[in-house]
Amino acid sequence: MKDAIIVGFGLAGFHCALELQKHKKDFLIITNEREGASKNAGGVFNPTVLKRYTMSWRGEEFFDQAISTYSFFEEKYNINVFQKIPIIYYFNQLSNHNDWTVASNRKGLDRFLSPLINTDANKGINDNFGYAKLQNVGKLDISKTLEGFKKKLDSNSFSQKEFDYGELKFINNKIEYKNVKARYIVFCEGFQLKRNPWFSYLPLEGSKGEFLHIRSKVLSQKKIIKAGLFIVPIEKDLFWVGANFDRKDKTSKPTKSGKDWILVKLKSFLDSPFEVVDHKAAIRPTVKDRRPLLGAHPKQKNLYIFNGLGSRGVLMGPLLAKWMYKFVFEKKKLYPELAIDRFETYFSNPKNIDV
Ligand SMILES: Cc1cc2nc3c(=O)[nH]c(=O)nc-3n(C[C@H](O)[C@H](O)[C@H](O)COP(=O)(O)OP(=O)(O)OC[C@H]3O[C@@H](n4cnc5c(N)ncnc54)[C@H](O)[C@@H]3O)c2cc1C
Repeated sequence: MKDAIIVGFGLAGFHCALELQKHKKDFLIITNEREGASKNAGGVFNPTVLKRYTMSWRGEEFFDQAISTYSFFEEKYNINVFQKIPIIYYFNQLSNHNDWTVASNRKGLDRFLSPLINTDANKGINDNFGYAKLQNVGKLDISKTLEGFKKKLDSNSFSQKEFDYGELKFINNKIEYKNVKARYIVFCEGFQLKRNPWFSYLPLEGSKGEFLHIRSKVLSQKKIIKAGLFIVPIEKDLFWVGANFDRKDKTSKPTKSGKDWILVKLKSFLDSPFEVVDHKAAIRPTVKDRRPLLGAHPKQKNLYIFNGLGSRGVLMGPLLAKWMYKFVFEKKKLYPELAIDRFETYFSNPKNIDV
């Protein structure tokens, strides 16, 4: 018998499985062919909220665990997936200089916001209001991480199939799925949670993001740029550029308006030729109150959910997985801010909810 079946293999499923593996638990991952959010994300890893020059919710805790988990993974799997490179933050008005300086002196933020403000010009770039550096941050190669992990699993631990909800049976407090018996099942489905018959009552809103891959000869591979949008180095002269936030359109189809939005922002910053080589879109699993969704089904106690990673899956995945493990296997309580119990009324009275 398996300890757990994990449905979905994006960042949530990966961290869930890695945590189980650390505790020598046996699992089966079932995931379909769709890319989901993780394989389309920029991979940026940053605990601060740049829009407000503040720390994100429990940002430092998430940061420390993420560094430890990705280092552990790199060493154990003999793979290089995490790159510590700065984010160069371009100001869009001079008055931001003062806010930045104040924030960079604040305890906690001083670890990340370098106080120095630069105003020297860069070739091929419009930096009218100067820029500053975010340090101790970086990026994760998410696809390489997922592929590296998957490659070392045997066929009893990984199945590339659509999960069929109708085939799940509950027998004597255990579950059975197509002849596989398990103690628990954890749904890590990202935005596809919407199709899940047990957890679709939860207010996962979703936020579509479109992005481009571009080729540029002037941008550097040694830094991430934040200039209205993110420009993230991939390899040689290839860069990930994005992304917008669209809460209305829930499809993963790239649109002309999305592309135009990115191009306008990019052209106002990049004053040199570039070539667009790809344009894609995916949906971030964002929640109404912007907190993750962790917990057990209100009635079927061996059904679990690990979702709601929003736009910070790289940062939050590792510590959330640790908390999830303790919740499932050690019966420790979850923080109320992220436990799905906070949406109990959505379960008991779904008709009254305006999501
Ligand atoms: C454009 C964009 C840019 C982003 N940039 C960043 C960034 O720079 N940094 C950052 O930290 N985060 C970023 N994010 C957010 C990040 O991608 C998410 O937080 C994270 O990837 C969510 O992971 P997940 O595993 O919950 O969902 P997903 O990655 O969507 O994974 C779920 C997987 O489960 C599969 N699945 C679902 N249901 C079933 C089923 N019934 N049967 C079988 N398989 C199933 C899906 O096909 C999918 O492959 C970005 C997101 C987007 C869209």
